[in-house]
Amino acid sequence: MRNVDSFHGFLARQERLRALMESRRISTLLLTNLTNIRYLTGFSGSAGVAVVSACQGILWVDPRYTLQAREEAHGVEVLEEKGGLLKAAAGWLRTNRVREAAFEVAQVTCADFDQLARETRSRVKFRPGGELVEALRVVKDREEIGAIRRAGALTAEVFEEILRHVRPSVREADLAAEIEYRMRKKGADGVAFETIVASGRRGALPHARATSKSLQQGELVIFDLGAILSGYAADMTRTVFLGDPGRPVRRLYKAVVQAQRGAVQAIRAGRKAADVDAIARRNLAEHGLDRYFIHSTGHGVGLEIHEKPRLARSEKGRLRAGCVVTVEPGVYLEGLGGVRVEDTVLVGPEGAEILTPASKERWVIS
Ligand code: ZN
Ligand code: ZN
Repeated sequence: MRNVDSFHGFLARQERLRALMESRRISTLLLTNLTNIRYLTGFSGSAGVAVVSACQGILWVDPRYTLQAREEAHGVEVLEEKGGLLKAAAGWLRTNRVREAAFEVAQVTCADFDQLARETRSRVKFRPGGELVEALRVVKDREEIGAIRRAGALTAEVFEEILRHVRPSVREADLAAEIEYRMRKKGADGVAFETIVASGRRGALPHARATSKSLQQGELVIFDLGAILSGYAADMTRTVFLGDPGRPVRRLYKAVVQAQRGAVQAIRAGRKAADVDAIARRNLAEHGLDRYFIHSTGHGVGLEIHEKPRLARSEKGRLRAGCVVTVEPGVYLEGLGGVRVEDTVLVGPEGAEILTPASKERWVIS
């Protein structure tokens, strides 16, 4: 049943792509972005090139991936190629007398472009096709939401388990390793990014890596973690304190949690992405903390850990039902450390649903 479902899911994505291609007057699209190929066909190998036209789809793979592609890929003919995948696709375009083909702007290098011109003997006109598949990926379908929901639940579960190991003298790197080990044991494909455990002053670095530093009493500790399940990522951050935080740190933590909650509550389909960012900033400003919030409020999550849309001042668009985004305000104070709270949320018509349901209340570890 699942397979039938996913089969139709991939065909539906290809149909949406063809409709989009038609509206942009693109008859043939050359796909070189592997994430986009995976999104459209299900093929998860590390090398492949595809062509999609109004009535055809072809995926070229090298012999390492022939069996895998035949098992995984839906809605495309799989062709094995030993002499270079781009060359094979170009040869196909030439012999099928394709006059014009669009390519993925973010992927094709100058060297690729030269090769395409050479192999097609300049008989095919190549033009930039924008980011068509990325545009489709902004709104997740049922299968994708299911995968992110499972990845989010697993991520939250691992964090709640790991809390028992959080105490003075434990090393950041050991906690990060334990988190990643437990994700694997629970069935994750892997981690969506290198797990962050940043304690004390190191917490003031938003993208600190876990080091051999030991946790100490009286420190804030930031955990930023995310599992991948069925190819889809989750992204979650929690901050804890070792010992008695005292009034100033309590106020700091509460301000960030409130800012995060306010932004999550503002999310619904139709809302401008930039508005959500503004609300997080305004909430922090009420506590005089907005100048310590030095990144955007969130980003899309899916097959990649950073996708569209961003929740940022510069983002023009509106959120749509089925978008999955993070909401992650944080404050970073040099010399003291940082507080960040992040959830991955699903945008719905009436509001947001949190997909990383770990507690934010149990943050004081004494
Ligand atoms: Zn994160
Ligand atoms: Zn994030």
